[in-house]
Amino acid sequence: MSGNVVIDTLVRPVDDLIWGGTRWVEAIDQHLGGNGANTAFTLAKLGVPARLYGWIGRDALGQQAVGLLTSAGVDLTYLHRAAEPTAATVGLVRADGQRAFLHRPGVSRIAFAEPIEFAPSLLAGISHYHLANPYAFVHLRRHAAENLRRAKAAGLTTSLDTAWDSQGEWGRILAPCLPHLDVLFVNENEASQFAAEGLRLEAPLVVEKLGPRGCAVNGERVPGFVVEAIDTTGAGDAFAGGFLAARQRGLDPLESARFANAVGALSATSLGAVTGVLSYGEVWEWIRSR
Ligand code: ADP
Repeated sequence: MSGNVVIDTLVRPVDDLIWGGTRWVEAIDQHLGGNGANTAFTLAKLGVPARLYGWIGRDALGQQAVGLLTSAGVDLTYLHRAAEPTAATVGLVRADGQRAFLHRPGVSRIAFAEPIEFAPSLLAGISHYHLANPYAFVHLRRHAAENLRRAKAAGLTTSLDTAWDSQGEWGRILAPCLPHLDVLFVNENEASQFAAEGLRLEAPLVVEKLGPRGCAVNGERVPGFVVEAIDTTGAGDAFAGGFLAARQRGLDPLESARFANAVGALSATSLGAVTGVLSYGEVWEWIRSR
Protein backbone atom coordinates (compact mmCIF):
# COMPACT_ATOMS: atom_id res chain seq x y z
CA MET A 1 0.00 0.00 0.00
CA SER A 2 1.11 3.56 -0.50
CA GLY A 3 0.18 6.71 1.38
CA ASN A 4 1.15 9.43 3.78
CA VAL A 5 2.78 9.00 7.18
CA VAL A 6 2.09 11.79 9.67
CA ILE A 7 2.66 12.36 13.37
CA ASP A 8 -0.42 14.02 14.90
CA THR A 9 -0.01 16.14 18.04
CA LEU A 10 -3.37 16.67 19.73
CA VAL A 11 -3.72 19.48 22.27
CA ARG A 12 -6.82 19.77 24.46
CA PRO A 13 -8.79 21.56 25.61
CA VAL A 14 -8.08 24.76 23.68
CA ASP A 15 -11.03 27.16 23.60
CA ASP A 16 -9.03 30.22 22.58
CA LEU A 17 -5.41 31.22 22.15
CA ILE A 18 -3.52 33.90 24.11
CA TRP A 19 -1.00 35.44 21.70
CA GLY A 20 2.02 36.51 23.81
CA GLY A 21 0.92 34.37 26.78
CA THR A 22 0.76 30.73 27.95
CA ARG A 23 -2.35 28.64 28.42
CA TRP A 24 -2.16 25.45 30.43
CA VAL A 25 -3.92 22.45 28.89
CA GLU A 26 -4.80 18.97 30.15
CA ALA A 27 -3.16 16.94 27.41
CA ILE A 28 -0.60 17.17 24.62
CA ASP A 29 -0.46 13.70 23.06
CA GLN A 30 1.28 12.36 19.98
CA HIS A 31 -0.35 9.75 17.77
CA LEU A 32 0.28 8.02 14.48
CA GLY A 33 -1.57 9.75 11.65
CA GLY A 34 -1.71 9.96 7.87
CA ASN A 35 -4.09 7.88 5.78
CA GLY A 36 -1.41 5.45 4.58
CA ALA A 37 0.11 4.88 8.02
CA ASN A 38 -3.29 4.47 9.68
CA THR A 39 -4.56 1.90 7.17
CA ALA A 40 -1.26 -0.04 7.15
CA PHE A 41 -1.24 -0.08 10.98
CA THR A 42 -4.84 -1.35 11.05
CA LEU A 43 -4.19 -4.13 8.52
CA ALA A 44 -1.11 -5.34 10.39
CA LYS A 45 -2.92 -5.15 13.74
CA LEU A 46 -5.67 -7.31 12.20
CA GLY A 47 -3.04 -9.90 11.28
CA VAL A 48 -2.79 -9.17 7.54
CA PRO A 49 0.79 -8.51 6.37
CA ALA A 50 1.08 -4.91 5.16
CA ARG A 51 4.02 -3.32 3.31
CA LEU A 52 3.95 0.49 3.40
CA TYR A 53 5.41 2.43 0.46
CA GLY A 54 5.87 5.99 1.69
CA TRP A 55 8.21 8.68 2.94
CA ILE A 56 9.42 10.04 6.28
CA GLY A 57 12.18 12.51 7.19
CA ARG A 58 15.44 11.66 8.95
CA ASP A 59 14.16 13.26 12.15
CA ALA A 60 12.71 12.39 15.55
CA LEU A 61 9.12 12.39 14.24
CA GLY A 62 10.15 9.93 11.54
CA GLN A 63 11.68 7.67 14.17
CA GLN A 64 8.51 7.91 16.20
CA ALA A 65 6.42 6.86 13.19
CA VAL A 66 8.78 3.93 12.59
CA GLY A 67 8.38 2.83 16.23
CA LEU A 68 4.58 2.98 16.09
CA LEU A 69 4.30 1.21 12.73
CA THR A 70 6.78 -1.45 13.82
CA SER A 71 4.79 -2.09 17.00
CA ALA A 72 1.88 -3.26 14.81
CA GLY A 73 4.20 -5.28 12.54
CA VAL A 74 4.02 -3.14 9.38
CA ASP A 75 6.74 -4.01 6.82
CA LEU A 76 8.79 -0.80 6.38
CA THR A 77 11.26 -2.04 3.75
CA TYR A 78 9.82 0.52 1.29
CA LEU A 79 9.49 3.42 3.73
CA HIS A 80 11.87 5.96 2.19
CA ARG A 81 13.89 8.47 4.23
CA ALA A 82 14.53 11.98 2.86
CA ALA A 83 16.18 15.18 4.04
CA GLU A 84 12.82 16.99 4.32
CA PRO A 85 10.95 16.80 7.65
CA THR A 86 8.34 14.12 8.38
CA ALA A 87 4.78 15.33 7.73
CA ALA A 88 3.20 16.61 10.93
CA THR A 89 -0.16 17.89 12.13
CA VAL A 90 -1.06 19.82 15.27
CA GLY A 91 -4.73 19.47 16.24
CA LEU A 92 -6.25 21.95 18.68
CA VAL A 93 -9.27 20.26 20.28
CA ARG A 94 -12.00 22.38 21.88
CA ALA A 95 -13.82 21.17 25.01
CA ASP A 96 -16.89 20.44 22.82
CA GLY A 97 -14.79 18.24 20.53
CA GLN A 98 -14.51 20.75 17.65
CA ARG A 99 -10.99 20.86 16.27
CA ALA A 100 -8.68 23.03 14.19
CA PHE A 101 -5.67 21.54 12.40
CA LEU A 102 -2.29 22.95 11.37
CA HIS A 103 -0.46 20.77 8.85
CA ARG A 104 3.14 20.73 7.62
CA PRO A 105 3.38 18.50 4.52
CA GLY A 106 7.21 18.38 4.74
CA VAL A 107 8.45 15.30 2.88
CA SER A 108 5.02 14.82 1.23
CA ARG A 109 5.98 17.68 -1.11
CA ILE A 110 8.75 15.64 -2.74
CA ALA A 111 7.36 12.09 -2.32
CA PHE A 112 6.16 9.97 -5.27
CA ALA A 113 8.07 12.06 -7.83
CA GLU A 114 7.96 8.99 -10.14
CA PRO A 115 5.29 6.30 -10.54
CA ILE A 116 5.94 3.19 -8.41
CA GLU A 117 8.00 0.46 -10.02
CA PHE A 118 6.45 -2.83 -8.95
CA ALA A 119 9.77 -4.71 -8.84
CA PRO A 120 9.82 -8.38 -7.74
CA SER A 121 11.11 -7.44 -4.26
CA LEU A 122 8.21 -5.01 -3.79
CA LEU A 123 5.69 -7.59 -5.04
CA ALA A 124 7.02 -10.49 -2.94
CA GLY A 125 4.21 -11.86 -0.77
CA ILE A 126 1.78 -9.14 -1.88
CA SER A 127 -1.58 -9.75 -3.60
CA HIS A 128 -3.24 -6.35 -3.26
CA TYR A 129 -2.29 -2.67 -3.73
CA HIS A 130 -4.13 0.00 -1.72
CA LEU A 131 -3.66 3.68 -2.52
CA ALA A 132 -4.55 5.85 0.47
CA ASN A 133 -5.48 9.44 -0.38
CA PRO A 134 -3.92 10.45 -3.71
CA TYR A 135 -4.68 14.11 -2.84
CA ALA A 136 -2.09 14.19 -0.02
CA PHE A 137 0.85 14.47 -2.42
CA VAL A 138 1.68 17.04 -5.08
CA HIS A 139 3.28 14.41 -7.34
CA LEU A 140 1.03 11.44 -6.61
CA ARG A 141 -1.89 13.41 -8.03
CA ARG A 142 -0.29 12.94 -11.45
CA HIS A 143 0.81 9.32 -10.94
CA ALA A 144 -2.13 7.78 -9.05
CA ALA A 145 -3.79 6.25 -12.13
CA GLU A 146 -0.46 5.00 -13.50
CA ASN A 147 0.38 3.35 -10.15
CA LEU A 148 -2.95 1.52 -10.19
CA ARG A 149 -2.53 0.51 -13.83
CA ARG A 150 0.93 -0.90 -13.06
CA ALA A 151 -0.37 -2.72 -9.97
CA LYS A 152 -3.07 -4.42 -12.07
CA ALA A 153 -0.55 -5.26 -14.78
CA ALA A 154 1.59 -6.91 -12.07
CA GLY A 155 -1.38 -9.13 -11.17
CA LEU A 156 -2.52 -7.36 -7.99
CA THR A 157 -6.05 -6.44 -6.99
CA THR A 158 -6.41 -2.74 -6.17
CA SER A 159 -8.25 -0.24 -4.01
CA LEU A 160 -8.23 3.52 -3.44
CA ASP A 161 -9.55 5.64 -0.60
CA THR A 162 -10.31 9.23 -1.51
CA ALA A 163 -10.08 12.10 1.00
CA TRP A 164 -10.99 15.77 1.00
CA ASP A 165 -9.19 17.55 -1.84
CA SER A 166 -8.23 21.03 -0.66
CA GLN A 167 -7.04 21.76 -4.22
CA GLY A 168 -10.49 20.93 -5.63
CA GLU A 169 -9.17 18.68 -8.40
CA TRP A 170 -11.58 15.85 -7.42
CA GLY A 171 -12.63 14.02 -10.59
CA ARG A 172 -9.60 15.14 -12.59
CA ILE A 173 -7.51 12.87 -10.35
CA LEU A 174 -10.04 10.11 -9.62
CA ALA A 175 -11.64 9.57 -13.07
CA PRO A 176 -8.48 8.08 -14.70
CA CYS A 177 -8.03 5.79 -11.64
CA LEU A 178 -11.49 4.20 -11.85
CA PRO A 179 -10.80 1.72 -14.71
CA HIS A 180 -7.94 0.21 -12.68
CA LEU A 181 -9.82 -0.22 -9.38
CA ASP A 182 -11.43 -3.24 -7.73
CA VAL A 183 -12.57 -1.35 -4.62
CA LEU A 184 -13.28 2.38 -4.23
CA PHE A 185 -13.74 3.86 -0.74
CA VAL A 186 -15.35 7.28 -0.52
CA ASN A 187 -17.11 9.21 2.25
CA GLU A 188 -20.43 11.02 1.92
CA ASN A 189 -19.00 14.53 1.52
CA GLU A 190 -16.49 13.39 -1.08
CA ALA A 191 -19.22 11.46 -2.95
CA SER A 192 -21.28 14.65 -3.25
CA GLN A 193 -18.29 16.51 -4.71
CA PHE A 194 -17.93 13.86 -7.42
CA ALA A 195 -21.71 13.85 -7.99
CA ALA A 196 -21.67 17.65 -8.40
CA GLU A 197 -19.07 17.21 -11.17
CA GLY A 198 -21.26 14.56 -12.81
CA LEU A 199 -18.61 11.85 -12.27
CA ARG A 200 -20.13 8.38 -11.96
CA LEU A 201 -18.25 6.34 -9.37
CA GLU A 202 -17.90 3.06 -11.24
CA ALA A 203 -15.84 0.19 -9.82
CA PRO A 204 -16.65 -3.46 -9.06
CA LEU A 205 -17.09 -2.49 -5.38
CA VAL A 206 -17.94 1.06 -4.33
CA VAL A 207 -17.93 1.38 -0.53
CA GLU A 208 -19.45 4.61 0.76
CA LYS A 209 -18.63 5.50 4.37
CA LEU A 210 -21.58 7.05 6.19
CA GLY A 211 -20.13 8.00 9.61
CA PRO A 212 -22.21 6.71 12.57
CA ARG A 213 -24.76 5.29 10.09
CA GLY A 214 -22.22 2.74 8.84
CA CYS A 215 -21.66 2.28 5.12
CA ALA A 216 -23.16 1.22 1.81
CA VAL A 217 -21.65 -1.39 -0.54
CA ASN A 218 -22.74 -0.81 -4.14
CA GLY A 219 -25.74 1.04 -2.69
CA GLU A 220 -26.67 -1.68 -0.15
CA ARG A 221 -26.75 -0.25 3.38
CA VAL A 222 -24.82 -1.94 6.21
CA PRO A 223 -25.72 -0.32 9.56
CA GLY A 224 -23.00 1.00 11.86
CA PHE A 225 -22.44 0.37 15.57
CA VAL A 226 -23.60 2.76 18.27
CA VAL A 227 -20.60 3.98 20.27
CA GLU A 228 -19.68 7.05 22.26
CA ALA A 229 -17.45 8.79 19.72
CA ILE A 230 -14.46 10.61 21.22
CA ASP A 231 -12.41 11.31 18.08
CA THR A 232 -13.44 10.26 14.58
CA THR A 233 -10.13 11.38 12.99
CA GLY A 234 -8.82 8.41 11.01
CA ALA A 235 -12.01 6.34 11.40
CA GLY A 236 -12.20 6.13 7.61
CA ASP A 237 -8.60 4.86 7.36
CA ALA A 238 -9.25 2.22 10.03
CA PHE A 239 -12.50 1.30 8.21
CA ALA A 240 -10.60 0.74 4.94
CA GLY A 241 -8.01 -1.39 6.78
CA GLY A 242 -10.83 -3.41 8.36
CA PHE A 243 -12.60 -3.96 5.04
CA LEU A 244 -9.43 -5.03 3.22
CA ALA A 245 -8.35 -7.31 6.09
CA ALA A 246 -11.74 -9.05 6.09
CA ARG A 247 -11.65 -9.47 2.27
CA GLN A 248 -8.10 -10.88 2.48
CA ARG A 249 -9.40 -13.38 5.05
CA GLY A 250 -12.08 -14.51 2.59
CA LEU A 251 -15.20 -12.73 3.89
CA ASP A 252 -17.75 -11.54 1.33
CA PRO A 253 -18.22 -7.80 0.69
CA LEU A 254 -21.22 -7.34 3.04
CA GLU A 255 -19.61 -9.29 5.92
CA SER A 256 -16.43 -7.30 5.32
CA ALA A 257 -18.44 -4.08 5.50
CA ARG A 258 -19.95 -5.10 8.86
CA PHE A 259 -16.48 -5.92 10.17
CA ALA A 260 -15.13 -2.61 8.82
CA ASN A 261 -17.98 -0.71 10.53
CA ALA A 262 -16.83 -2.24 13.83
CA VAL A 263 -13.18 -1.27 13.21
CA GLY A 264 -14.25 2.29 12.26
CA ALA A 265 -16.46 2.56 15.34
CA LEU A 266 -13.65 1.28 17.60
CA SER A 267 -11.29 3.86 16.10
CA ALA A 268 -13.82 6.59 16.94
CA THR A 269 -13.96 5.58 20.63
CA SER A 270 -10.48 6.85 21.52
CA LEU A 271 -8.24 9.81 20.82
CA GLY A 272 -5.85 9.14 17.93
CA ALA A 273 -6.66 7.40 14.65
CA VAL A 274 -5.56 3.85 15.46
CA THR A 275 -5.47 3.78 19.27
CA GLY A 276 -8.77 1.87 19.49
CA VAL A 277 -7.93 -0.76 16.84
CA LEU A 278 -7.98 -4.34 18.20
CA SER A 279 -6.79 -7.70 16.84
CA TYR A 280 -8.98 -9.63 14.36
CA GLY A 281 -10.34 -12.01 17.01
CA GLU A 282 -10.95 -9.20 19.50
CA VAL A 283 -12.96 -7.23 16.92
CA TRP A 284 -15.23 -10.26 16.36
CA GLU A 285 -15.60 -10.68 20.15
CA TRP A 286 -16.54 -6.99 20.36
CA ILE A 287 -19.13 -7.44 17.55
CA ARG A 288 -20.65 -10.49 19.30
CA SER A 289 -20.84 -8.58 22.58
CA ARG A 290 -23.02 -5.81 21.04
P1 ADP B 1 -14.08 9.33 6.96
O1 ADP B 1 -13.27 9.24 8.24
O2 ADP B 1 -13.35 8.83 5.76
O3 ADP B 1 -14.73 10.66 6.78
P2 ADP B 1 -16.46 8.23 8.20
O4 ADP B 1 -16.48 9.41 9.12
O5 ADP B 1 -17.71 7.88 7.48
O6 ADP B 1 -15.28 8.30 7.14
O7 ADP B 1 -16.02 6.99 9.12
C1 ADP B 1 -15.64 5.75 8.57
C2 ADP B 1 -16.40 4.63 9.20
O8 ADP B 1 -16.13 4.58 10.62
C3 ADP B 1 -17.92 4.74 9.06
O9 ADP B 1 -18.32 4.19 7.81
C4 ADP B 1 -18.39 3.93 10.27
O10 ADP B 1 -18.32 2.54 9.99
C5 ADP B 1 -17.32 4.25 11.32
N1 ADP B 1 -17.69 5.42 12.15
C6 ADP B 1 -17.27 6.69 11.99
N2 ADP B 1 -17.81 7.52 12.92
C7 ADP B 1 -18.58 6.73 13.72
C8 ADP B 1 -19.41 6.96 14.88
N3 ADP B 1 -19.54 8.19 15.40
N4 ADP B 1 -20.05 5.91 15.42
C9 ADP B 1 -19.93 4.66 14.90
N5 ADP B 1 -19.18 4.38 13.82
C10 ADP B 1 -18.50 5.39 13.22
